[in-house]
Amino acid sequence: MTQKNSNFSRRVFIKTASVGAVAGSAMPGLACRAKKSEHTGILDVRPHELMLIVAKIGAGLKDDLGDARLTEILQIVRRDPSQPITLKCPVTSNYSFQNPDELTEPEEERLFYLRSDLYILQRMGMAPGVTKPAIEFFQRLYDGVKTAKGILYFDEITADTWKGLEKEGRNYDKGRAMGNRIVIPVRDQKEEAEYKIDSVKVMYEADRLKIRPHHLMCMTCFYGRQTFKPISEDNLFEAIDVIQKTPEIPVELVCGPCMICPPCYNYNPGTGQCVSPFSMAVRDELKDLSVLQALGLKYGDVLPARELYTLLFDRIHVQTQICGWGDGVVTSPEWTVCTAGPEPGPEYAKGRAAGLGFLNQ
Ligand code: SF4
Ligand code: SF4
Repeated sequence: MTQKNSNFSRRVFIKTASVGAVAGSAMPGLACRAKKSEHTGILDVRPHELMLIVAKIGAGLKDDLGDARLTEILQIVRRDPSQPITLKCPVTSNYSFQNPDELTEPEEERLFYLRSDLYILQRMGMAPGVTKPAIEFFQRLYDGVKTAKGILYFDEITADTWKGLEKEGRNYDKGRAMGNRIVIPVRDQKEEAEYKIDSVKVMYEADRLKIRPHHLMCMTCFYGRQTFKPISEDNLFEAIDVIQKTPEIPVELVCGPCMICPPCYNYNPGTGQCVSPFSMAVRDELKDLSVLQALGLKYGDVLPARELYTLLFDRIHVQTQICGWGDGVVTSPEWTVCTAGPEPGPEYAKGRAAGLGFLNQ
């Protein structure tokens, strides 16, 4: 995301905000249609190329990685962190359906690169042919491939075929030590702060709140925590504050990012999407739909805050019901369970018991 684009997007945000709309909710009816996202197409990448990009940055390179192919991948994913990537490698098994069209490495290096590809996939808990938004692959690489030793380089070189890429491997280790967002940097903090100021102003001036369904619950968890004060990362405090001061304010249930999101480091102002590297966007979509199902509502419905929260607290008693998929079982990294804290906590129940600080008044 370039500064230029961010500034442009902020102007668009302010313009739309002036009529009470926030990205993702300007046209709730349309926003809820599952349109295919617009990208330049799916990018085919070899798993070891992900590691080499980190290695180049670990070696001190910045935008130009000194390799046309790796530089192009870097530019694409930085421009659009949601760019879909398919990880492909040339196997002989029944996964050969996804084999790359062409191989660029010399014949004598193919075994080494294929082993690297498969080991990286193993560490990331994936199989050849997997397609995901780019930002998620780089997070899973960071989480799963803690060192290049044993993948790109070895303690002992057993044969020429297995001489590996020691320099690149050690640079990967350096790059990984630089943090999990070196390939796709987090949002600019100054921009986040500006969005915080603008979006809070919009929220306090609005004649209705636009909230995604499961954020009603997050507001409750937030209220149920020890400290109840504004934070820079989102607008949960402010949404609660508005409702406590004006309990009859209409709340519209919107699809995708809402008035809570603009200052969040996972919010992409250019697309109005949540680009969390932890598959949070897809998890949150299921939570939204589960809240709507429990409440018997749909996107676009508008209810006074008092009525909406009375219904919510009547139908949803514990966070596990929605955010723990009913049974609290984590079936894959894409479907982790939010506990609202380091441990499965009582936040939602506490916030519910307190009526979000206004229902029991
Ligand atoms: S458990 Fe997490 S996702 Fe669920 S309502 Fe609480 S803070 Fe939100
Ligand atoms: S993580 Fe995503 S949904 Fe949650 S506040 Fe940030 S942008 Fe919004």
